[in-house]
Amino acid sequence: MKIGVLKEPAFESRVSILPETVTALQKKGIETIIESGAGDKAFAFDIAYEHAGAKILSRNEVIDQCELLICMHAPSIEEIPEGKALIGIYQPLYNTGLVQQSVNKNISLFSLDMLPRTTRAQSMDVLSSQANIAGYKAVVLAATTYGRYFPMLMTAAGSIAPAKVLILGAGVAGLQAIATARRLGAVVEVFDTRPAVKEEVMSLGAKFVEVEGAADASKAGGYAVQQSDEYQQRQKQRISDSVVKADIVITTAQIPGMKAPILVTREMIEAMKKGSVIIDLAASTGGNTELTKNNEQVDHGGVTIIGNSGLSATMPIDASKLYGKNVANFLALITTKEGTLNLNFEDDLVKGCCITHKGAVINERVSNHMNQTV
Ligand code: NAD
Repeated sequence: MKIGVLKEPAFESRVSILPETVTALQKKGIETIIESGAGDKAFAFDIAYEHAGAKILSRNEVIDQCELLICMHAPSIEEIPEGKALIGIYQPLYNTGLVQQSVNKNISLFSLDMLPRTTRAQSMDVLSSQANIAGYKAVVLAATTYGRYFPMLMTAAGSIAPAKVLILGAGVAGLQAIATARRLGAVVEVFDTRPAVKEEVMSLGAKFVEVEGAADASKAGGYAVQQSDEYQQRQKQRISDSVVKADIVITTAQIPGMKAPILVTREMIEAMKKGSVIIDLAASTGGNTELTKNNEQVDHGGVTIIGNSGLSATMPIDASKLYGKNVANFLALITTKEGTLNLNFEDDLVKGCCITHKGAVINERVSNHMNQTV
């Protein structure tokens, strides 16, 4: 089987497959064709792909010759002929237009962000591999933006108190942010609506802020669910106390398919110390603060708010390496030992991330969501 790797849009620095993965795929009977220049921004140049056994062609040739096209961001559906398959991160619960266009054109859309969060899916879990990087980079970015030290220091010229970091949302990104902030010597407080994360948070050396009475999320595949007004009010008060004391706030709270919850209000930000920094990783779905602007840095009365949900792309080499491994593991699931395509829709992983196939929306979550929003 031939797979084609497309160059991502200009704003993206990652590539779906690095040369090292080309070699691994070849051993499984999968031939890789790369669009010329696809890996340039991740420092993987055409020559390295050729050495690894890939063929380099123009965009049109790749699209024309390959049944399976690998691209993180969806290309314009107009340039994709009928009957092809796309594998990437397409956020179908937010991009219903893309889903409809794929149905109309009989394009099979595999969106790896929709894989169930089960143990079997872990090696293909692109949300985890990329969120891990974003959590790390959020702390590094906060440390370079903040005008003071993170660790406690006792020097001949005076003592420095450790930075106070507040992390809202302890999913994959939040947990990596805790670990990174702790390594830099900060004192870390964490809040999440899922009490199940308390132990993990504490084992990383952070304090877990508890608010009693969160809605049961045990049937939501590990994801958070929307909370009652009463809970949100109590949560707001408790978070407010911690925000006002914090030097750095990192927000990562998301609810799949919905706008991100507002956890930090304008009033809280105005009560923060001058020089404090907020990094909002939920910016692309509306942000966790009232003042977040997606892909912008805002200065509000001396508090810097950076809204960026794409921080994994600022580390394109490792991000592409891990993403490529995820894709290769997914390809192993949908191909035979001889390297031919074998889609088993009885498999919960294939069923979970296949959004459209044979001119229909076949993913239950997406079709329910589309029916509700009509
Ligand atoms: P996410 O990006 O969807 O959300 C980040 C965090 O924000 C979550 O911990 C969520 O509980 C929290 N949050 C949501 N609303 C909030 C609010 N109002 N206030 C405070 N916090 C709020 O999360 P994610 O990193 O994608 O992880 C989602 C789930 O999947 C987690 O349970 C995680 O442990 C699980 N997971 C499982 C696997 C696996 O087994 N394959 C892999 C990765 C993650």
